[in-house]
Amino acid sequence: MQPRFFSAPGIFPVPPHVCTLLPVYFNTAAAFCQVLIERDKVCRRKNFSIYVRIRNISVFFRISMKRRISVCHYGAGRKKSGGGKTDTYREEVTFTENISEKEERKEGYASQKLAERLGRLAEAHRFVRCQTVGRSLCGRNIRALFIGCGEKRLLYTGAHHGSEYITSALLCDFAEEFASAADMGGRRFGVDCRDVLERRTLVILPMVNPDGVDIALMGADKNTPLGAKLWSLNKNSGDFSHWQANARGVDPNHNYNYRFAEYKQLEKSLGIQPGASGYSGEYPESEPETLAVARLVNRLSAAGAQGGRLCAVLSFHTQGEVIFSHNTRECIAGAAFLSRVSGYRDEKTDLGAAGLTGSYGGLSDWVSRELLIPAYTVECGKGKNPLPQSDRGYIYARIREMLFLSAVYF
Ligand SMILES: [Zn+2]
Repeated sequence: MQPRFFSAPGIFPVPPHVCTLLPVYFNTAAAFCQVLIERDKVCRRKNFSIYVRIRNISVFFRISMKRRISVCHYGAGRKKSGGGKTDTYREEVTFTENISEKEERKEGYASQKLAERLGRLAEAHRFVRCQTVGRSLCGRNIRALFIGCGEKRLLYTGAHHGSEYITSALLCDFAEEFASAADMGGRRFGVDCRDVLERRTLVILPMVNPDGVDIALMGADKNTPLGAKLWSLNKNSGDFSHWQANARGVDPNHNYNYRFAEYKQLEKSLGIQPGASGYSGEYPESEPETLAVARLVNRLSAAGAQGGRLCAVLSFHTQGEVIFSHNTRECIAGAAFLSRVSGYRDEKTDLGAAGLTGSYGGLSDWVSRELLIPAYTVECGKGKNPLPQSDRGYIYARIREMLFLSAVYF
């Protein structure tokens, strides 16, 4: 992949530990000018690189999973030497970080942190409103950002699955970049962000399943009634890092109203139990998280005075670098477009191997088949869930163009 420059000052997805260390090294916040990200191709899962351009100096970061960050000036960084000549210079520094990956995740990705970030976004940007659209089983707010006031609406959802909390951060990064660009009258990928918001409303629901996210991040206390139940659903293991379901073991993305009864039979034959990925619950929309999303979708798709409608739904998950959709008239062109601008594979859930458990009860299944609105499941990143937070910058770089262009395409 060719390195790509981020054009927005101050808005880019650098992992928090890099943000902390950059000013230490440069002693200035002006270090955040332009960032370019490239994944190490050889050791795909182990390292990635970030280039930061500070005035006329380029800095190269190499970040490894062992939390070691090396920084070196290179290339465009030219120092004036005697006689007016410029010499290319190179300097390396290595930082080692002590915060464990787990601690950092708790800090940055928990539902409470997300709620705080959404509140800040709504306060800081004039086109952004934050609204509670439902409550989880354990009473956590399910909140959405409404950006703009146009009649055509687009819905972006993240973290249906607990361990996929990185998608919440990615959608917030997008909301923040879009809203900042709109404030300043800026363009991204040719999209005039302010102009778009006069005709369209972007609805961003970054965390559908806040209980599941907090369970995946912080586990469950066996000594509480809920914790004991969760332990038993988790086969008596205290490792909840792969938890996908909500707080009673239902997979929210198998709980929508599409081919539900049919899937129930399949689920039985496959031996899928509560707590496991793909367990669909007792009846469609039995779960408060699913119900909140379904109600929001119905609200958004209701016709407005000026012929308002819901133009598309993009549901973000990890992982696989693939975009799933149905082979329907409404979805086909959009799937090809999203695939072209992201480089992610275009795959039809109702054809081939993915169809086994993939095209029942999901948000995209319900929206595209029952409401006949284009809907896509975007599986971001590659690897094993939960993806490490160090992947966030790389994934955002891959999906950024798709996110911006989707706002005008549908
Ligand atoms: Zn998922």
